[in-house]
Amino acid sequence: MLAYTAPMTVEEAIRALAGASGMAKVLSGGTDLLVQLRSGRTKPDLIVDIKKIPDRSGIRERDGGFVIGAATPAAAIGECEALRQAWPGVVEAANLIGSTQIQGRASLSGNLCNASPAADSVPALIAARATCVVEGTKGRREVPVESIVTGPGRTSLGRDEFIVAFHLPKPPPRSADGYLRFIPRTEMDIAVVGAGVSVTLDPSGVCTDARVVLGAVAPTALLVADAAAALIGRTLDATALDGLDQAAQCACKPIDDKRGTIEYRIKVAGVMARRAATIAYERAGKR
Ligand SMILES: Cc1cc2nc3c(=O)[nH]c(=O)nc-3n(C[C@H](O)[C@H](O)[C@H](O)COP(=O)(O)OP(=O)(O)OC[C@H]3O[C@@H](n4cnc5c(N)ncnc54)[C@H](O)[C@@H]3O)c2cc1C
Repeated sequence: MLAYTAPMTVEEAIRALAGASGMAKVLSGGTDLLVQLRSGRTKPDLIVDIKKIPDRSGIRERDGGFVIGAATPAAAIGECEALRQAWPGVVEAANLIGSTQIQGRASLSGNLCNASPAADSVPALIAARATCVVEGTKGRREVPVESIVTGPGRTSLGRDEFIVAFHLPKPPPRSADGYLRFIPRTEMDIAVVGAGVSVTLDPSGVCTDARVVLGAVAPTALLVADAAAALIGRTLDATALDGLDQAAQCACKPIDDKRGTIEYRIKVAGVMARRAATIAYERAGKR
């Protein structure tokens, strides 16, 4: 029989996860989990709802960066003007998730831990160097977002662990990010390709740092170092964009399905990376 608990503290939640006799699942917004329960795709013995734990929902500024509670809905992320100013790409990625109804529930932690290769917020979070605060019986650890997903539907979290918050750093001066996805419809679809890019510029517009991350073109989001290297040391000239495009295409290991062939996804990945880099670069130039 399926059991449900809604602990009031992180410690109680950890105890519930650690003490579960069978499979336990954390519930944030439920927009993935409830669909999977209904379809029978997942059959947990225990659901641990973390929404009643204080501070698990909400955004606060810290040292110029941000702490986002694990169960904070995407709608609240979209309403946080300071976060949008600092990390517009992260906010636009979160706000692409689903419809208005889904936005009222869907969280970054659920988007990440559902471990879909096409999750929209994940490339943007990785591009922004976001970290996750993970708590479990062995204590608290802070890890980069890119270390959480190990494959489709799989994470590196222990069975007694869950994400309690995300940290977004203070963006360095003249830095900005952007996220774009390609979908066959205008909305409510899964990314065929997603691209998150962050850049930092010097006063003359030369890129001194970059992160380029692709979604939906491999089993996990891809942090493409060669694509970032193509930008660093240059303005966003044709050579930089061509190098970025080529490196992005080379990194892809996509599937072939009804929504896009391998060749198509690879080509689109280069285009999305170019466009997201251009958006990030133009934003950074205005700071
Ligand atoms: C109609 C519809 C449209 C959608 N559109 C999009 C879209 O455009 N883009 C997109 O990326 N996704 C989309 N989704 C998928 C889903 O809405 C997102 O992945 C959402 O961010 C999941 O967040 P949640 O809080 O609802 O997760 P939940 O359903 O609560 O959890 C999802 C998974 O993560 C685990 N989990 C949740 N919180 C934690 C935590 N704190 N620590 C550890 N594990 C945790 C759960 O156990 C579960 O396995 C859509 C879903 C629907 C139903």
